Amino acid sequence: MPESNSSIVWGVDSGSYCMSGGMVRALDGLLDISGLKDLFKPGDYVGVKINIGELGNIRYLRPVMVRAIVEKITELKGIPVIMDTVGMIGNTLRGPSDWFYTTSVNGYPGALLGKDILPADGYTGAEDELLPIDGDELGGIEVARGVVEVAAMVVVSHVTGHPFFGLNGALFNKGVGCSSQKGKWRIFDPLKPVVDTARCTNCEDCVALCPTQAITANNGVVKVDHGRCKGCNHYCLGFCAQGALKVNKESYPRFQKRVVEAATAVNVATMGKLFYLNFLLDVGKYPDYYTVNDQSITPDLGILASRDPVAIDQASLDLINKAPGLVFQKSQGYSTLAPDSLKFEEIHGVDTSYPLQYAEDFGLGLRKYHLEMIGG
Ligand code: SF4
Ligand code: SF4
Repeated sequence: MPESNSSIVWGVDSGSYCMSGGMVRALDGLLDISGLKDLFKPGDYVGVKINIGELGNIRYLRPVMVRAIVEKITELKGIPVIMDTVGMIGNTLRGPSDWFYTTSVNGYPGALLGKDILPADGYTGAEDELLPIDGDELGGIEVARGVVEVAAMVVVSHVTGHPFFGLNGALFNKGVGCSSQKGKWRIFDPLKPVVDTARCTNCEDCVALCPTQAITANNGVVKVDHGRCKGCNHYCLGFCAQGALKVNKESYPRFQKRVVEAATAVNVATMGKLFYLNFLLDVGKYPDYYTVNDQSITPDLGILASRDPVAIDQASLDLINKAPGLVFQKSQGYSTLAPDSLKFEEIHGVDTSYPLQYAEDFGLGLRKYHLEMIGG
């Protein structure tokens, strides 16, 4: 039994149901036992917030899992609305004009899911509603219109690391993934990089890669124009071979707080009718919206379900930290992380506890949890 000051998190490990239907059957069993049926009434529109993955990334959540969630909501007489939001920058592969192409190439056509997937903030990323929120940073956030319009929401997160937030799970999917393009710009604003001139070799690779043309090179001086930069942080930083583009580490807590504050707006939008599924399969260093073919840093650890986003993220982090590490590529060599180690701290140098504590202080949930594993 959970203690009164803790939240319940349900789970299945990745070996469950291996002789009777595998992970899809395990997910079905998890949805039956973890209280999804109490989330909505028959006839309610139920959002299924997923992340379709950037083109080039091959380790996003498998569409067959999303289909199982959609079928369960339909069986419970809800009306599933599968949704994601468009990317931060209009002319990236995740931008408005590429919505249909990306959903199709990454295997998310309606025919497979049983439903079309909708861009919750419209094909332009501009359909939103500004919701007021408390907190030090944002004051309010532009929530995607589709999120505001559903009666309840299942937040479906493929868990990975995030270089500036820590754990990419339920809180990140709520805070960033449910905000419109304008909301995302404000959340990412503290992450605008600067050029370390001592390291920069003026190769100009980043000038060509930046999708907003924020980086210029004039007379051998490379600069980031913070008026144009959106802080997207993965097109330039990850590709500078010299490590000359940097985000000030003191900015990380401001970004982490903004994500958490934005996540509270989703509670307001859905009147707290939220259910979370965290998939700890193919757990890599980077989120699905990065273009990289990321490798798993741990074995598959299963699926978790909860009504509490803080508890489910804390439980996910604890399972990842406890697990033995797999061999993964790091720069030109290979590395592996020890069991019982703070894995995303080691990889990214980011404080993974800070946003969880801020979220608990904010009343979004509890870090203390009771993990109830089911088997099959
Ligand atoms: S990619 Fe790096 S080294 Fe090349 S110009 Fe940009 S900051 Fe300088
Ligand atoms: S973070 Fe880098 S790639 Fe993104 S907009 Fe700014 S300068 Fe361009």
